[in-house]
Amino acid sequence: MRYFASVSAVACLAILGSAGISTAGVGHEHNPANTISTEVDHPDSFRHFASELPAMRERAAQINTDFGLHVSEIEPGLFFVTDLIYQSAFLVTDEGVVVFDAPPSYGERLRMAIEISAPGVPITHFVLSHKHADHNGGGFAFADIEGLTVIAAQDSADSLASNPLRGVLTPNETFEEALSLSIGGVPIELQAANFHANDTDVMIYLPEQKFLMAVDTITPGEAPFMNFGATSNLEGYMASFDTFLSYNFEHFLSGHVSVLGTRQDVETARDYAHDVKDTVNGIWPEFLDRFMAHMELTEFQHGNLAYRLTMEEIRDECAVEIIDRWDGTLSVVDLWADSHCETVVLHAIMH
Ligand SMILES: [Zn+2]
Repeated sequence: MRYFASVSAVACLAILGSAGISTAGVGHEHNPANTISTEVDHPDSFRHFASELPAMRERAAQINTDFGLHVSEIEPGLFFVTDLIYQSAFLVTDEGVVVFDAPPSYGERLRMAIEISAPGVPITHFVLSHKHADHNGGGFAFADIEGLTVIAAQDSADSLASNPLRGVLTPNETFEEALSLSIGGVPIELQAANFHANDTDVMIYLPEQKFLMAVDTITPGEAPFMNFGATSNLEGYMASFDTFLSYNFEHFLSGHVSVLGTRQDVETARDYAHDVKDTVNGIWPEFLDRFMAHMELTEFQHGNLAYRLTMEEIRDECAVEIIDRWDGTLSVVDLWADSHCETVVLHAIMH
């Protein structure tokens, strides 16, 4: 994608002429869309992307163990863990330790962090926020614990049974919609949802700690990851923010970046996502007219090409607006805005 590399620096609509497939040279030389050049002098160089906002850098967690993790007790007995890219948590109770996710990038070090933070306390429970291996492939580091209760949504357990994922523990306690637990007297509420994975996600809520965990959703301080956290359910994703905000929470663990989220982060992510949706919807009534103009441009010889030109034009106009409105509020907007707009464009075609 040629335009976004430059657009944050100069915010110039004229650049759109070079976006994706250039309408100035159809059928001749053009760069494939969605490319960023690794050459420093190239107009689409990676060097043109904005760096992280200072406010984001200030909030970033710092490594505070000698084994390369950040571990902090955010509420009595509740520990937040991050390798600055992935996030998980564990809860120390009188009955035992409850682990919430174990990314493969630090599964063994998570076990070490627990044993240092809660010496002598058995690890009794492991809760999966969802089945994906990048958040739970570190389960192997807990596989030797006898009698470990591994809890997941029934749909996730079913899909893991038919398609095991490397390092992800096999659930031995499942639930359909919701499960209320009390471990060592600490209430834990699990609720199935559909905002990310293709089967089921689980919202993990600790009411006493005002802690809500919903993984692969927001990225506090940043625009969402590509295609809205690679969601497989855009409608579920869009609706999830109000669901999250209906909980009484102060800490929001989203699984990514080093920053632990707040209510404000969830509200900002909601407003961003809705702005992308509204922006595409605002252009959408012109789709047919624009498509016919591109059909004319391609001399009615190439319907697929006209369609792609139309989709890219709408995506790119949306991205320019979004970057313009949000690049002072969230980091990496210039990097991912086009993917968010494209996700909504694809959704709009089908709905
Ligand atoms: Zn995931």
